[in-house]
Amino acid sequence: MDNSTDSIIEPTTFDTTKIWSDFLENAKVATSTPHFNAWFAPTFLISIAQNGERYIAEIGCNSTFTKNTLEQKHFGLIQGYLEKTLGQAVDLLFVIKQRPESKVNEAPLLGAPLFESMEHDQESIRQAIFRSGIRLTYTFSNFAVSSTNQMAHAAAEAVAGEPGSAYNPLFIWGGVGVGKTHLMHAVGHHLLHLDSSITIVACTGEQFTNDIVEGIKTKSTQKVRERYRKVRVLLLDDVQFIAGKDAVQEEFFHTFNTLVGSGSQVILTSDRPPSEIAKLEDRLRSRFEAGLIVDISPPDFELRCAIVQIKAQEKGLHLDMDLAQMIAGNIDEARQLEGFLTRLVTESKFKKLTITKELIETLLGKGREGQIEDRNTKVTPHELIDAVSKHFSVGKRALLGDSRVKTIAEPRQILMYLLRTQLRLGFEEVGRLVGGRDHTTVMHAVDKITNLASSSVDIREDLAGIKHKL
Ligand code: ADP
Ligand code: MG
Repeated sequence: MDNSTDSIIEPTTFDTTKIWSDFLENAKVATSTPHFNAWFAPTFLISIAQNGERYIAEIGCNSTFTKNTLEQKHFGLIQGYLEKTLGQAVDLLFVIKQRPESKVNEAPLLGAPLFESMEHDQESIRQAIFRSGIRLTYTFSNFAVSSTNQMAHAAAEAVAGEPGSAYNPLFIWGGVGVGKTHLMHAVGHHLLHLDSSITIVACTGEQFTNDIVEGIKTKSTQKVRERYRKVRVLLLDDVQFIAGKDAVQEEFFHTFNTLVGSGSQVILTSDRPPSEIAKLEDRLRSRFEAGLIVDISPPDFELRCAIVQIKAQEKGLHLDMDLAQMIAGNIDEARQLEGFLTRLVTESKFKKLTITKELIETLLGKGREGQIEDRNTKVTPHELIDAVSKHFSVGKRALLGDSRVKTIAEPRQILMYLLRTQLRLGFEEVGRLVGGRDHTTVMHAVDKITNLASSSVDIREDLAGIKHKL
């Protein structure tokens, strides 16, 4: 009889809500904010049951994505905490389940379930997303948050909670690849998950312009108007494109007034704030400024790590944190991160190479091929040498010379790294420019800095400082 309890699972009377909220407080401190928001915030503790000598804790996750990540990456953290709190061994069981009480306005993270939502009965949502022109993969649940985009994220969540009344319009601006489109589409996604019958149009300033021009040409302006003026939500990307085009601005002014006047939500994105968009009609500018304007700055290292992990998962790639850090430490922009992961997938799947630190090092060392528009391609080697010399206050002669003193040798290695990765010069060419060194010395320097960029904040700041000077 003694061991008869072994196979009997008995419910317990723990206060699961309290235990989990304490755990979340803990996890907030133990992980980074983007991680916390992405993986922990959308979870809850369903139950704790006694199973022989052990407990089984059932943890609800909002998506398979969250579930897999927690299982693979944060199992120990959760288990350790629960065992300490409950004073007994705990097994974890992750299940996909929405938090029962979570309402749109209260949910800390509006994680529209991305993957499982696509199953069977969600076909109508999928259709609606498709019709609206919203990107299927741009959701809140795979949008990582850090200090650089926190305001914009909060504003987007607010708008998703109360479309038409929280902030109208919501104007999001920032540089290329900072996540403006992603965030804007996430709002649309969320709303269609709540009600797939609402009409949403997601388009770019360019598409809007083309539609208007086409409407004028084919005398079907009325039809075009109806398309844009009858929506519940208009997501207009890169609105700066309509500036300077009189007929288009005129049309947009009326569209905008009709929408906002009838309580429909408008979200706009742009590469700069309204006040800096040249040739934007004053009346449009003042309309845009009447809502909420938020900006997103380039992603910091922490956020880039989270983006790498999210994008890697989406590509079916498992990347350990140190590998993600290596990538995030060496690549500054979100789009380039994605491009890099695509290359990594190609290498690993088609060439059947396992993803190792060395493989990543090699790919990073090859520079940013395929990024023709990279602004640094216009920089000459001499400008780069200048910038490094100034940044470290090391004279050019010393920089290109033979001194092995760390304060000179390290800047020299950084120079070699940047010549290789930013200007995409060959190892020989780099060696020639840097005092006639051979290619193995250059390779060694590039590898060393690639590694340091993933582990050292100082090096990352040096690299960013030099790039900024260019
Ligand atoms: P923008 O519109 O500002 O130029 P996008 O929204 O197109 O930028 O984002 C570029 C890429 O980077 C997309 O693949 C997007 O999913 C990704 N990205 C940017 N910011 C984030 C983030 N915070 N979390 C997850 N992915 C992000
Ligand atoms: Mg965009």
